Amino acid sequence: MTNHPDVFSDALKRLDTAAKYADVHAETVQRLSQPKQFLEVSIPVRMDNGSLQVFTGYRCKFDDTRGPAKGGIRYHPDVNPSEVKALAFWMAFKCACVGLPFGGGKGGVIVDPTKLSTAELERLSRGYMRAIAWAVGQDIDVPAPDVNTNPLIMAWMCDEYAIVKGHREPGVITGKPVAMGGSLGREDATGRGGFYCLKELQTRMGWDLTKQKRTIAVQGFGNVGDHFARLAAADGWTVVAVSDSAGGHYNPNGLPIQKLAENKTKTGLLPPIGTAGPGCTPISNAALLELDVDVLVPAAIENVITEDNASRIKAPIIIELANGPITSQADAILTAKNIIIVPDILANAGGVTVSYFEWAQNKAGYYWTAEEVRERLALIMRREFGAVYEIMVSKKIDMRTAAYAHALQRLAPALESTGTAVRYAKE
Ligand code: NAD
Repeated sequence: MTNHPDVFSDALKRLDTAAKYADVHAETVQRLSQPKQFLEVSIPVRMDNGSLQVFTGYRCKFDDTRGPAKGGIRYHPDVNPSEVKALAFWMAFKCACVGLPFGGGKGGVIVDPTKLSTAELERLSRGYMRAIAWAVGQDIDVPAPDVNTNPLIMAWMCDEYAIVKGHREPGVITGKPVAMGGSLGREDATGRGGFYCLKELQTRMGWDLTKQKRTIAVQGFGNVGDHFARLAAADGWTVVAVSDSAGGHYNPNGLPIQKLAENKTKTGLLPPIGTAGPGCTPISNAALLELDVDVLVPAAIENVITEDNASRIKAPIIIELANGPITSQADAILTAKNIIIVPDILANAGGVTVSYFEWAQNKAGYYWTAEEVRERLALIMRREFGAVYEIMVSKKIDMRTAAYAHALQRLAPALESTGTAVRYAKE
């Protein structure tokens, strides 16, 4: 988990680096260096045993110049103000990077949800929404699921918001169950968006899978990694390793991804390590990252590639499906090795893009087919990948800096046209 106390200051370093490559005024950088609003709320919850427990929650609206703030709600014991601000900052850049009409937001509650009963979790979720209801709304700030929150929790919150406000407003929150106004195609959207990035890279690398086998290792077989691996395997890529927190399966000739995915659908987990089939052997999460594969996909948690293992990474391409899997020190080591890193704010933006579709469908009261969702997602991911790639090549910079510069080129004119930047004052 991102529990470094200075995670927000670290996130701001990306802004300073990217500002050198975008047409952005120093005052705009100044405005983007702190959140527009940061709330701390207390949430009293009556526990099942009759006692009262008071939880602490946060909601940060980092920026809403380009549209309502957008970002998930995390339930975790390590949630802290610096992390919430950093995640909200990343959301502002992610939404701008792929051109969604949203700003950045994030929220969280300090809690270990595994220690609560379902009824306690519902009371906590409804209590959190009551505490922040005045600060969110479909045109103000639109939360969504994040670590340890899910569609059911979004449904409780959406319902609580309707009770507080006295009217239904499904666009206040995304990631809802389809029955409550969620979008078709949300479940696999992040993995699918990452898969579209893979296809764009394949074209630029000139890789023909019918002529030469190309290998992939995926760390994390959760919602994101599972769908990414299924799509890649079905497309002809050789997925040689996948893992979850219990460890990984490895087969240099390719894993039976469909079989592993079916087991995951049935049991929620990968098959026990060592039982994936002939030719499959166990592999540790650490060894998986260092495999000699064409594409490495960290899709589990933050900070898995650090200065300790970066020099041993062999894959020439990394697609960051997890948020923040590479520390800034490791980033420098990998970039010096000319490894192409498709950064999280682009690679995993498929999820927020389909959240945007959900919000748009809720506002319009008109619902799309799964096919329409996929087509529009493909259009956005391909277009924005192409734009970032072009900046990377033309300015001779790494792809992460290019993605931030691309986002800044959208954020800066929006901020500058609402503010007092010198360039406008002179005109
Ligand atoms: P998830 O909880 O469904 O899956 C996480 C997976 O990672 C599980 O298979 C888990 O066993 C594994 N894992 C946990 N700790 C691990 C460890 N130490 N080593 C290896 N594997 C480990 O979560 P998810 O929704 O798939 O999210 C994965 C990542 O993608 C997170 O960083 C999340 O922030 C990011 N992300 C998710 C979405 C989305 O739409 N779900 C969108 C954008 C970014």
